[in-house]
Amino acid sequence: MNYAFAERVNHMESSAIREILKVAESPDVISLAGGLPAPELFPIQEIQEAYNHVLGANDPSVLQYSTTEGYLPLREDIAEKMKEKGMHVSPDNILLTNGSQQGLDLIAKLFINPGDLIAVEDPTYLGAIQTFYSYQANFLTVPTDKEGINVDALETAIKLQQPKLIYLTPTYKNPTGVTLSLERRQHLAKILAKYNIPLIEDDPYGELRYSGPVIQPVKSFDTAERIIYLGTFSKTIAPGLRLGWVVASKEIIAKLVLAKQGTDLHTGTLLQRTTHYYLNNSQIEKHIETIRQEYGHRRDIMLKELKANFSGEVSWTEPSGGMFLWVSLPEHFNTVSLLPKAVEAKVAYVPGAPFYAKGGGLNTLRLNFSNSSPLQIQEGIKRLAQLFNK
Ligand code: PMP
Repeated sequence: MNYAFAERVNHMESSAIREILKVAESPDVISLAGGLPAPELFPIQEIQEAYNHVLGANDPSVLQYSTTEGYLPLREDIAEKMKEKGMHVSPDNILLTNGSQQGLDLIAKLFINPGDLIAVEDPTYLGAIQTFYSYQANFLTVPTDKEGINVDALETAIKLQQPKLIYLTPTYKNPTGVTLSLERRQHLAKILAKYNIPLIEDDPYGELRYSGPVIQPVKSFDTAERIIYLGTFSKTIAPGLRLGWVVASKEIIAKLVLAKQGTDLHTGTLLQRTTHYYLNNSQIEKHIETIRQEYGHRRDIMLKELKANFSGEVSWTEPSGGMFLWVSLPEHFNTVSLLPKAVEAKVAYVPGAPFYAKGGGLNTLRLNFSNSSPLQIQEGIKRLAQLFNK
């Protein structure tokens, strides 16, 4: 049957790469492709204890409908956490969401009319491109280098093309691992105030720092309330929880609450109560430190292995945190067409091209170092080197 789908459905694309990567899920393929945390580090016992406690207290309200904004004591915890990052916000500035992906969707729902221009880094997070595109946005891409987005180029683009919204992942970014420098953060906050333009700061990886200085979120320099900040427990506790948050002006939060009501009324009550208990009755800082140690070690192994196996024609980023690094092969390589061959050789990566909102990057690829063991990383890079050096 021919269904009369809405026009926006034409903007929801399935990805050929995703289909190939499904094959890579077979256990004999070393997958450096996904963006998954290390499952062996999930605090499964503590989460179980938290669920037992919350359900054992004979309080039926943990299974009841609750407010759209989210459980106040959990929003208070998050407001405290945000203060440590230099953001002076109250629980009224916070909305709890089903992961930061839902935050992206709700913000898009709030701001994007068909044809609106969104400024993004080139390359940027694929999930954000998909969300904005499904609301029929157009993209303005801004180049990045080792210090993150080129803020002068962004300012020129704002002057010439007046985008409606900017989307950035400034810290240990997906897909490249690059971090926006402190100077550029300060400069960027001034530009947002000057041109009165909102910016989404997506920060799922900020806690995963392995080397280099602590750099506060751009939102900590945002005295003009132009930034909508997205946080998540996906990388520090577990992505399967589906719990994230938006930090924004009270005016924006009020509108996001309306948008969320139409989507799912509220984030699961039991999940919120359990997470609140977990945060206050476990050693989350110690847990995050364990993750940092292990991922930092895996990053070092991947960097060492790349150095040992590739010549000067191949370059890669050296991230101070996060879960990914980014490889650039000589111009004539096409990592999309090479992917099936890589999977045949029992190793998988994500080709770089889909991270470019307006095309390009065919010679690039993203590698994940958080989900594979050190031995798998060593073997995986060797397999890739054999393929690319052929
Ligand atoms: N933003 C970025 C940059 C991401 O990498 C991800 C996860 N891959 C998300 C948002 C979505 O994360 P969550 O699990 O919090 O929805």
